[in-house]
Amino acid sequence: MGENKEKGDTKGAKGGKCPNCGAARDQEYRPFCSPRCKDVDLGRWFKGSYAVATEETPETEESGDDGGPQEI
Ligand SMILES: [Zn+2]
Repeated sequence: MGENKEKGDTKGAKGGKCPNCGAARDQEYRPFCSPRCKDVDLGRWFKGSYAVATEETPETEESGDDGGPQEI
């Protein structure tokens, strides 16, 4: 019990709020508002994720986000 951690609506969050502090998110650091919030969330993510190793691949930095389509 206790696996049902409110998974928030971070994924389908419409509007544009930093999941960390609730401030307006910045396009450069989305979905966060600043590099700081991003860092904070990352740290939290690591700590909590290590305990629950899933098959999900951490979508870290999204470098190369020039706004163009990504060809894989
Ligand atoms: Zn924030």
